[in-house]
Amino acid sequence: MKYNEIKNYLNGEFVSGKGEKYDIHAPINGKIIGEFKAATKTQLDEVVAKAKVAQASWAGLTAKSRSKVIYKYRELLMKYREELSVVNCEENGKSMEEAYAGVDKAIELTEFACSIPQLISGKSQDVSRGINCKEERRAIGVVASITPFNFPVMVPHWTVPNAIAIGNAMILKPSELTPISATKMAELWSEAGLPEGIFNVVNGGKEIVEGICDNKDIVAVSFVGSTPVAKIVHGRSSANGKRVLALGGAKNHIVVMPDANAEAGSRDIISSAFGMSGQRCMAVSVLIGVGNIQKVYSEVVRKSKEMVVGVDIPPVITSAAIQKISDYLDVAKEAGAEIVLDGREALTDKGYFIGPSIIDWKDINKMSDEEIFGPVLEIRHANTIAEAAMIQNKSPYGNAAAIFTQNGRYVDEAIREFQAGMLGVNIGVPVPREPFSFGGIKDSKFGYGDITGVSSIDFWTNLIKITTKWNPEHKVDWMS
Ligand code: NAD
Repeated sequence: MKYNEIKNYLNGEFVSGKGEKYDIHAPINGKIIGEFKAATKTQLDEVVAKAKVAQASWAGLTAKSRSKVIYKYRELLMKYREELSVVNCEENGKSMEEAYAGVDKAIELTEFACSIPQLISGKSQDVSRGINCKEERRAIGVVASITPFNFPVMVPHWTVPNAIAIGNAMILKPSELTPISATKMAELWSEAGLPEGIFNVVNGGKEIVEGICDNKDIVAVSFVGSTPVAKIVHGRSSANGKRVLALGGAKNHIVVMPDANAEAGSRDIISSAFGMSGQRCMAVSVLIGVGNIQKVYSEVVRKSKEMVVGVDIPPVITSAAIQKISDYLDVAKEAGAEIVLDGREALTDKGYFIGPSIIDWKDINKMSDEEIFGPVLEIRHANTIAEAAMIQNKSPYGNAAAIFTQNGRYVDEAIREFQAGMLGVNIGVPVPREPFSFGGIKDSKFGYGDITGVSSIDFWTNLIKITTKWNPEHKVDWMS
């Protein structure tokens, strides 16, 4: 489908950007499906000023009143599930099944935000005779969320519903590769009755991100994307005195033991490695076999060879992504690794498709730390769990790690040794679901706390302590 010009959503109005023009390509065929003009820094600063005014009124409502709008928005996500999934699929290239899953996860995240009145109810206690302390979680002001291309619907829902339900005003800066879903979100927030200025979409690239980091009225920035940009955003926003949580890239490991269930294990592993063409920050990139894992190994290879590009494997996001994968395969081959499966055999000039690749490093210790972010599974070999954990620990990233085994003692050891924020046992994509929070460690996250769940409530609020004395008597105890 060809979309009309994609506009910014500024203070309740759909407005053309006054900056650089961007084309939006459909990864499935490479064709242009839309365009937008980036907002300028002046447009950003103007909308932030308006959001600041709107936020004061929004935060003045009770949490219960705000949550009514979030409930309505959740109903609209369900009503427009199909339409949103089609947009998600067209601009990102993911399959409809994955697109539905992204919208369903957005609904689950919004349901969590509906419960904000319960979650921020605070506590109160008489700490001394006649003296009471109470806590209140209060909104912090105008906040921003900068998001990547791979989950145009789900990732903005990690941040937007919670931040808004708490009483903040949000500036969303979606990826310039996939800006259409954010426009649809704006329509739904408007239909849900959210006041103008509380949800805004500012399109653009690096310049707008820098503008967000520098704008003095934006008090908190959340970022999801690659590690180099996460570091920049974390550094620049922190230097400007903002609260910042920046999630970065990943290179996730799965350790396979000889007793792993070959059928279920191999199915989960290839779905993790090649589902969404490996463009998930929770995808497994490295399989570490401990001892003889021949059964799982041959099943992984057999099933991967049977995968049909265009059916089981969607396109990657750009032709540049294909080039990056191809270069990586060349480097691995030159370094002496065996290319068990070369996805380049499936290359076509119709869309950004590349097949699944498997690289077996045998006993060569030259695997790069680089995140490939495509359908590539690298295989390493170890003699013990301790050796496997050393390989995992050496990665600069720490998003996810998992073990496949039937033995609880193996699980205990691996879970103790892994260095990652989200660990799994016999599961290929160990994403915690609400109310558990999402976030890695090491170079997969800069800043404190997690981006979803109860942890995100800390991020989007200030904790205010109120001490009250109604007791006129003097010296009842040391505090009075
Ligand atoms: P990206 O870092 O290229 O872009 C993310 C955002 O940053 C976009 O909005 C983009 O416009 C902006 N940006 C890009 N370059 C910039 C620059 N030089 N200066 C300022 N802003 C810039 O990431 P991507 O390619 O869109 O997404 C894929 C990456 O995101 C992968 O590394 C993946 O692992 C990561 N990711 C991580 C998580 C997580 O939870 N840790 C989740 C999803 C994706």
